[in-house]
Parts: sequence; C-alpha cells; structure tokens
Amino acid sequence: MNDCLFCKIIAGEIPSAKVYEDEYVYAFRDINPQAPVHILVCPKAHIACADELDESNSVHVAKCFEAIAKIAKAEGLDKGYRVVNNCGEDGGQTVMHLHFHILGGLKLSDKMI
Ligand code: 5GP
Ligand code: ZN
Repeated sequence: MNDCLFCKIIAGEIPSAKVYEDEYVYAFRDINPQAPVHILVCPKAHIACADELDESNSVHVAKCFEAIAKIAKAEGLDKGYRVVNNCGEDGGQTVMHLHFHILGGLKLSDKMI
C-alpha cells in the first residue's frame, strides 16, 4: 500500500488546486504558500527524493522542467522565478515524493539560506 501524500493528491484521492497535468507531471498550488506564486511540480511516478535519481528515471525530472517552463509562462512569471528542491532531512524535505517548488511573483532574496 502506498501511503504517500503526493501520490494520493496525484491520484485525486486528496483534493488539490491543480495548475498543470500531463502524462508525466502533476502540479498544484502549495497549501502554505511562501510567495504570491508557490506551485509544487511532481513527477507522477513515485520517486522519494533527488537522491534516488539515476539514468533509469531522470526522464521524470526532464518532464518536470519542461512543465515548469510552461507553468511559469501561464502564471505570468516573465520577470523570473526560483525553482527549489529540498532533499532529505538536512535539506528540509517534509514530503518524501520528489517535487520542485516554483516560487515567484516577487523579487526573491539574494540569499540561498
Ligand atoms: P518540502 O518541505 O517537502 O520541500 O515541501 C513540501 C510542501 O508541501 C510544503 O511547502 C507544504 O506546504 C506542502 N504541502 C504539505 N501538505 C500539503 C497538502 O496536503 N496539499 C498541498 N497543496 N500542499 C501541501
Ligand atoms: Zn509518492
């Protein structure tokens, strides 16, 4: 049994504010936004974190970034945005299903941490 929160969101078992979906990717608004635009972009395949990536599954990341470019245009982020991936405990990852945060709609801090 898959007990993954984002797998349940992708399957429609838990509601979400969807912004984009294709064969490989599901994207939805973060429930606790940290910026005017805060979207989570997930591969539909369950990959726990960036540390699990290799040449057998990296196509899912490529598809996420193709989607990110489309979503950014649709959201009007023409002045730019930040893409963040938290990996593991020290990286601050709280949901163990690979996802990329799109943060935009304001001038973001120069600092990374
Ligand atoms: P992480 O800390 O793993 O990089 O990011 C997890 C993100 O998922 C957080 O920004 C958090 O606000 C968001 N999140 C957690 N649970 C839910 C949920 O049920 N729905 C939505 N839309 N976002 C969620
Ligand atoms: Zn999952």
